[in-house]
Amino acid sequence: MIAQAVVYRIYGDALAVLMNVKTRQVTLLQGPSLQFWKECVQADEPDRHHPLYARLQNLGMLGEPAELPPSRPHANTRDEHAHTIDIGALHLWAFKNHIPLSGHFELTSRCNLRCRHCYGLFETKQDTLSTEQVCRILDDLRDNGTLGLVLTGGELFFRKDILDLLRYLEAQKFVVRINSNGTLIDETVVRALQELSNIYRIHISLYSSEPEIHDQITNAPGSYHKTLHALHLLRAAGFDLRINCSVMKANYATYHKVRDEIGDPLGIPVHFDTEIFPRDDGGTDNLVERLDAAQLQQYMRAQTRPNAAAPRPKLCRAGFSFFSICEDGRLLPCLKMKRLSRYPLGRLTEHSFREIWQGSQAVLTLREHINHQLDACDLCELAI
Ligand code: SF4
Repeated sequence: MIAQAVVYRIYGDALAVLMNVKTRQVTLLQGPSLQFWKECVQADEPDRHHPLYARLQNLGMLGEPAELPPSRPHANTRDEHAHTIDIGALHLWAFKNHIPLSGHFELTSRCNLRCRHCYGLFETKQDTLSTEQVCRILDDLRDNGTLGLVLTGGELFFRKDILDLLRYLEAQKFVVRINSNGTLIDETVVRALQELSNIYRIHISLYSSEPEIHDQITNAPGSYHKTLHALHLLRAAGFDLRINCSVMKANYATYHKVRDEIGDPLGIPVHFDTEIFPRDDGGTDNLVERLDAAQLQQYMRAQTRPNAAAPRPKLCRAGFSFFSICEDGRLLPCLKMKRLSRYPLGRLTEHSFREIWQGSQAVLTLREHINHQLDACDLCELAI
């Protein structure tokens, strides 16, 4: 039997990608291992005497955790059998083959808060995509090889059907990361989330360790205490958590206390970010919260660790193996391009993902442009 926390995708006869969300083990299968995995997926009960069964069990992909032997799998190798692979190699393969391995899905633009820096417009009273439309898009993504989704909003838990959608995502073997402001996550929601086996991590937005500052930013009195309560509940339930803290003028003087007074004591990593994007309609009133040049310089100095190695250049995967879906079904290379979304790659309410991903002129032009740049680039293995 396939282990409960395992999500997977099979890419024809090329390979299968398996992930045990609990152990974070990622495994690539090719050749006979891939063939055996296909048999495991189709059979109610895989052949336990097959020579590959023990290997996949050892990797945490077959059998329940209690059955797992203590031995560790091989690391960072790849052959025709089942082995751990370097996650970078998987992304490289997906990039080169235009496999939409992962993406952002903005499930709603609605939110119960009104953060000063937010790009949302909060004009709609109802979620634009119905439950059925979201499920149809998820089916489409699954059939095109998407394994990982970052679910974002708006505020996800504002959707009445969010728990049903999360269960559907689990049934369709997606691994998910959740972005939330935490204010609607109570004991009942946490219990429902605990029943799911495919949640990789939950990111909670918190802007200050001081309730007044946080509530001023969210324009919602009491939001600080609700968010903090959610963090405690989720931590006690054993979820992998991150705190997202946008750094802006309103919290600049004390933003670091989010890490010092909340993240560190709770053992939750904090991610600071100074980027603030214009509103979805191009409006710029929220940009007054951006740090000024002097603050930004000071912030950058504070983040720089002495003797730290220079960061490795990162390849943007947007439009190659990564995509974003807006709350109304527009497909974009990345949510950061949202204000250009009068020119989306396509609309998933009108066309299938495959039609857009493989045939839209906008996608082909984007890839041609980036490939042209990669031709002249020798930074990484993608240089052709
Ligand atoms: S919680 Fe997020 S989506 Fe809601 S208003 Fe704040 S930044 Fe915007």
